[in-house]
Amino acid sequence: MTVLVIEDEQLLSESLCELLRQHGFATEAARDGPSGLEFALTGVYDLIVLDVMLPGLDGFEIARRLRAKRVGTPILMLTARSGLDDRVEGLDAGADYYLPKPFEARELLACVNAILRRQGAQVDELSFSGTSLDLASAELVCGGRSVHLSAREFELARCLFSAGGRIVGKETLLVKVWGWESDAVDNNVEVYVGFLRKKLAAIGSGVKIKSQRSLGYHLEAGT
Ligand code: CA
Repeated sequence: MTVLVIEDEQLLSESLCELLRQHGFATEAARDGPSGLEFALTGVYDLIVLDVMLPGLDGFEIARRLRAKRVGTPILMLTARSGLDDRVEGLDAGADYYLPKPFEARELLACVNAILRRQGAQVDELSFSGTSLDLASAELVCGGRSVHLSAREFELARCLFSAGGRIVGKETLLVKVWGWESDAVDNNVEVYVGFLRKKLAAIGSGVKIKSQRSLGYHLEAGT
């Protein structure tokens, strides 16, 4: 799980990232509006913690632009302003939750966990063309046959199945499956795509994982 923290106050940004890392999240930080928007538009994060008052572009505008570009990453908005109008504006702009400053560490963690649980609770399996990925058991299932996936295979499959038939970029896969800190390269993605292809074939699934030159990978329905 990777969280993008968009917050211009250095101390707060650092302590938020530290807190999240202590609780098992990977973090990336942006310290002004435009770079925060640029990072967030990649769509690779599981959650965005977004301050409202930011240099260059405020949090409301960032949330609006993300939703206008159909980036659905959940947003937890932080602000010193706790008036009703601001809360309504934040939610209207596309924020999922609103946390007024100052807040306590455990309050923030409770929010983060509640938002992620809500996301996860919406689906327990992802399906594509007669093949499904069981998110609880990490199994690929097709017509009564199933195969268990390793942790990396599962994350990779989750990215591809979540995208439907759309292309998922290699960069996105590297970040989501291997994380920012890792030394993994395109070759790692290819190797794991190979493992997944074998497992799809093993359960008799017609779903293909197609490579789009340098762009990335996408699922294609079986014929
Ligand atoms: Ca600020």
